[in-house]
Amino acid sequence: MGVEFIYPEFEVVRNQDRCIACRVCERQCANEVHHYSPERGLMMSDETKCVDCQRCVSLCPTRALKIVKSDCAFRENANWQADNIKEIYKQASSGGVLLSSMGNPKPLPVYWDRILLNASQVTNPPIDPLREPMETRVSLGKKPDKIQRDKDGNIICDLPPQIELSMPVMFSAMSYGSISYNAHASLARAATELGIMYNTGEGGLHEDFYQYGPNTIVQVASGRFGVHEDYLETGAAIEIKMGQGANRGIGGHLPGAKIVGDVSRTRMIPEGTDAISPAPHHDIYSIEDLRQLVYSLKEATGYSKPVIVKVAAVHNIAAIASGIARSGADIIAIDGFRGGTGAAPTRIRDNVGIPIELTLAAVDQRLRDEGIRNNVSLVVGGSIRSASDVVKAIALGADACYVATSALLALGCHLCRTCHTGKCNWGIATQRPDLVKRLNPDVGSERLINLMTAWRHEIKEIMGGMGINSIEALRGNRSMLRGVGLNEKELEILGISHAGE
Ligand code: SF4
Ligand code: SF4
Repeated sequence: MGVEFIYPEFEVVRNQDRCIACRVCERQCANEVHHYSPERGLMMSDETKCVDCQRCVSLCPTRALKIVKSDCAFRENANWQADNIKEIYKQASSGGVLLSSMGNPKPLPVYWDRILLNASQVTNPPIDPLREPMETRVSLGKKPDKIQRDKDGNIICDLPPQIELSMPVMFSAMSYGSISYNAHASLARAATELGIMYNTGEGGLHEDFYQYGPNTIVQVASGRFGVHEDYLETGAAIEIKMGQGANRGIGGHLPGAKIVGDVSRTRMIPEGTDAISPAPHHDIYSIEDLRQLVYSLKEATGYSKPVIVKVAAVHNIAAIASGIARSGADIIAIDGFRGGTGAAPTRIRDNVGIPIELTLAAVDQRLRDEGIRNNVSLVVGGSIRSASDVVKAIALGADACYVATSALLALGCHLCRTCHTGKCNWGIATQRPDLVKRLNPDVGSERLINLMTAWRHEIKEIMGGMGINSIEALRGNRSMLRGVGLNEKELEILGISHAGE
C-alpha cells in the first residue's frame, strides 16, 4: 500500500500511425518505460517509470512520441496540493526521507525577475560594443584598499594570488561521481578554452584532468575525498566547502552504487561504500578554526593560490561573510537556495536557506560598512540562468557568478530532477558506461563554449547600453538597478530604488 496510490505523473502519448516500431525509445530509456509487445505487434509504455527526461521524444525518428503531464487530478485544495498528497503516500509506503535532485522548485520570488536594468539615453550615450573596447575580464582575490607606491614612487603591482577570468562566470562545483567522466571532461575543456574556471567539487580530480589544472578549482569538503598534495598543487585555486545551496546545513551523500572504478580511485575510498561528507568539518567550529584550515592550505601550497570559502545562503549570512573575510580567505562563494544538486532531502531543498539576491546585497553592504570589502572577492551562484542575471548580480556587488544548472542544460540536461537515481539518460548524472558514452565531450565542450560566448556578447551589449565599458565599473553599481513589485523592506535590503524613482 502507498506508492501504488499515486497515478503516474506523466503520460506517454504514442502516435501509432507514425510509430515504425524501430525500438529506439526502448534502447534509449534507462528507466525501461518502453517495450515491444510481439503479441500485439506494438510498442507499449509503462508510464509509472517515466521521469519526463525527453530522451525518447528527442530521438524518435518519426516524431511519434510526446510526454505530457497527466491530467489525472487529486482532490486538491489551496492547502493540500497534489505534491503534498503524493509525498504523504510515498512516505507512508517507504518510511524514508524523500530525496530529490536539482534546485528548489517552489514558487518563491525570483528577485532577478523583479529587478530591471538601466539604459543610457541622450546625456550619457550608450557604448557600441562592436566598435569600442569593452572589458569583461576580472581577477578574483584580495585587493589593496588604495594604490601603493614604493619609496621611489612607483606603483606596487604585487597582488596576492588571484584567479584570472576572461568573463565573470565560472562553472560551479560538480563532483566526478555525481556527474560523469564525459561531463567533467566537457567542463574542463570548455573552461580552458574560454579562459575561465571549472570546479572539481568534492570528488577529487581524475588523473586525466590534471592537464587542465590552470583552469581548475580544487575543492576540499568535510569528507576530504581525493585530497592530497598533488591535488592541491594542481589546482589554480582551492575551495573549502562549508556549505552548499541545495544542501544547507547537511552533508553530502553519494550512494555506494555510484562509487565504482575510477570514481572510487579518485575519491580514495573503496568501491561500493557510500561517500558521506559530514554536515560539519569536524575540525571547524569557529572562524579561528576556519582560519587554521585556510592557512594550512596556503602553507601546503606555498602561498601561491587563492583560497575560496564556500557557504550556503542562510539567515545570518552577512555576519558569517564578515567572519570569513577576516579568516584569511581570498574569495567567498555563496550559494543561494535555488542551487542544484545531485541528491538532497526534499524538505531541506525546499524549505531551508534564502535567495541569493538578498544575500548578495546584504553581504556586499556589510563588508563595505566594515571597510573590508577589498579583503575578499564575492562569487555567487544558485540558479544564475542568463547573461542578464550575471549583469544584475555584478551590479548588486558580486565579482563573478558560478553556474552549474545552466551548464548542465547546455550539455543536454532536461531537468527531469532524477539525478539521484544514477540513470541519467543524457549521460550527465550517471556512471553507467552505456549512458556515459551518450555525452560526447567534444560536443559537450563546444556547447558550453557556445553558451558562454553568447553570454559574453550579451553582457557586453547590456553594459554598453548602460554606458559602462568594464565589469569593474559595473560592480556594485546599484544605481543601474530598479525594482518592480517589491515592498519597502525588499528594496531596502537590495539597496535599490523602485522603478519610477
Ligand atoms: S522511437 Fe518512435 S518510432 Fe521508434 S519505436 Fe519508439 S515511438 Fe516508435
Ligand atoms: S542531469 Fe540528467 S538526471 Fe539530472 S536532471 Fe538533468 S537530465 Fe535529469
